[in-house]
Amino acid sequence: MEIKEQNVQQSKRTPAGKKQLIIAGPCSAESEEQLMRVAGMLAAGGHTDFFRAGIWKPRTRPGNFEGVGNKGLQWLKLVKEETGLKTATEVATTTHVYEALKYGIDCLWIGARTTANPFATQEIANALQGADVKVCIKNPVNPDAGLWLGAIERISTAGIKDIMAIHRGFSSCAKTRYRNIPLWAIPVWLKKQLPGLPVLCDPSHIAGNSELIPHITRRAMGMRFDGLMIEVHPEPEKAMSDVRQQLTPTSFEQLLAATFKNSS
Ligand code: PEP
Ligand code: MN
Repeated sequence: MEIKEQNVQQSKRTPAGKKQLIIAGPCSAESEEQLMRVAGMLAAGGHTDFFRAGIWKPRTRPGNFEGVGNKGLQWLKLVKEETGLKTATEVATTTHVYEALKYGIDCLWIGARTTANPFATQEIANALQGADVKVCIKNPVNPDAGLWLGAIERISTAGIKDIMAIHRGFSSCAKTRYRNIPLWAIPVWLKKQLPGLPVLCDPSHIAGNSELIPHITRRAMGMRFDGLMIEVHPEPEKAMSDVRQQLTPTSFEQLLAATFKNSS
């Protein structure tokens, strides 16, 4: 399998001079006003390469907010037109893929629950066949490196050239300070299998709370991850999903400024 070095506009560099890619935005799109507000702030901050917002939300139990659905695609299109930020959303079914491609979403990510299911990732790969879109693949919820690699191979075999992996931690029954435990050896192993594959870290879903995010971000940058996906909400305490882990735009900009202060 061939996964090419990415040629993306990245805004930051590691101390070693390597490029970094930053994906930021709310866990979920909630309203047009919320999206435009946070996107405007992120665009002005200048650290964000891709604006993320989930519109189809995989909730563990029914009855919670399951995303705004298709109407969020129109809002993401507007974000791109008004701010110039590229857009990213999660896809879990073939219908999600077709709809997102129709609206020109620049980056599709496959969530942890979906990566764990080879039938689902194969169906997504079939729907993506030959599409010109960036695809990020989060690690599966369980610490199975082979499942992660397998999902990447399926997407690559569908002809997608622009692929990235995202380490978002692994769920566990053990009581730890993390929502999802980072097992750094697994993304390091993945990188050894596919040296050209950019691997990002998602400190938001690893931490589960905003206080721990700077620590995990420093750790990931120290390990030379190729970028970050971070959840940012204009009013985190009012968020309809992942309320504890979203940063305000101000604390996000401060975190990135501190993280990259020595980079050009
Ligand atoms: C998300 O990014 O909001 C999300 C649901 O991610 P994960 O698949 O990592 O749980
Ligand atoms: Mn989330």
